[in-house]
Amino acid sequence: MRFFDCHFNMKIIMHWVECIQPLLLFPISLFGFDEANLKTSLSTWEKKNKNEAIVLITSPDSGKIEFAYPEKNALFRKLPPGSIMKTLSSFVFLSNPNRFHTSFEEKYFCNGKVEEPKKDYFKAEDKDKFNIVKDSNTGKNYFRCSIEKGHGEITLRKALAESCNAYYLHFASKDSDFFYNALIQDWKLNEGTGATFEQSSNAKHFTHKNSTPFESALTSIGDDGQIKVTALKVAQIYGAIFAETPILKPILKGEMPGQVNPFPYPDTLRRKIQQALRLTVKEGTLKNIHLQNTSIQILSGKTGTPTREGRKFTTHGWNIIYFKKGDILYLLVVFVDKGSGKKEALELSTIILNAI
Ligand SMILES: [Zn+2]
Repeated sequence: MRFFDCHFNMKIIMHWVECIQPLLLFPISLFGFDEANLKTSLSTWEKKNKNEAIVLITSPDSGKIEFAYPEKNALFRKLPPGSIMKTLSSFVFLSNPNRFHTSFEEKYFCNGKVEEPKKDYFKAEDKDKFNIVKDSNTGKNYFRCSIEKGHGEITLRKALAESCNAYYLHFASKDSDFFYNALIQDWKLNEGTGATFEQSSNAKHFTHKNSTPFESALTSIGDDGQIKVTALKVAQIYGAIFAETPILKPILKGEMPGQVNPFPYPDTLRRKIQQALRLTVKEGTLKNIHLQNTSIQILSGKTGTPTREGRKFTTHGWNIIYFKKGDILYLLVVFVDKGSGKKEALELSTIILNAI
């Protein structure tokens, strides 16, 4: 493993020396698009929709930040992750098959309702904080899936692409304490990104430990209300998943690429998750993206729609899109304050990808 890491570092450093460094001698953005024009499009969209947006574009091969809007929010503001956490949760499930009793092929039937796995599983504070509903026929309490009628019979691949809450809550609740701790530790959610410009106050991504088993299980869908991530942390993790790199240090123009940590799971597992994320674009929550810009090819992605803090019924929207412009690979992270991943965030992603 150590050999691989050194080998990888050498590879990106050589890439840097040969390809990237000479370009920095010229005061031209490597990304080659009209940054001012994009910023105008973003603020026009914000005014028109009475909405706030956060946008980050990175080069996942090197960890370089290409575009951040507005810079302070994109790099430092902690945001509720919602379903973008499902990708991270999938790794936790698949690397602990004996504990969560699932696999890539395991089938699950989603009827739209996550019923209590056992009596009194939902505590009083859960009922206060989360949208738990009582079934008028059976008298049982349940939490709704993202589609009311349910996703039907699904496997992990489909649960991830179509963002099924029931699948994730079902398996995470098999051992919610273990799940919560593994999720935090494996992905280092209690640490910052390792960027040189980051202050230590930005390191913590959650405020206190979840107190009920349901809250811990809810971290699997990123809607527990405690775990928060910056768009930068999201780009760092997803960049490593898509581009098959270690966890890289986010860098600004002029900084040398470097590794913060090895990727926390085996490559075989990473390829399976990549396969599922490609499905998001083909038939999942990103299938409705249509671009006029023919120089852009969308490869993979994930959407998210977390609940807004302290409100049960309004949401934020996330998009993470791995794309190719010409021969170069980029990662786009979009967060909108009000709306959903499938609608408002997608509308903004389309504007951005057509403008660059
Ligand atoms: Zn479902």
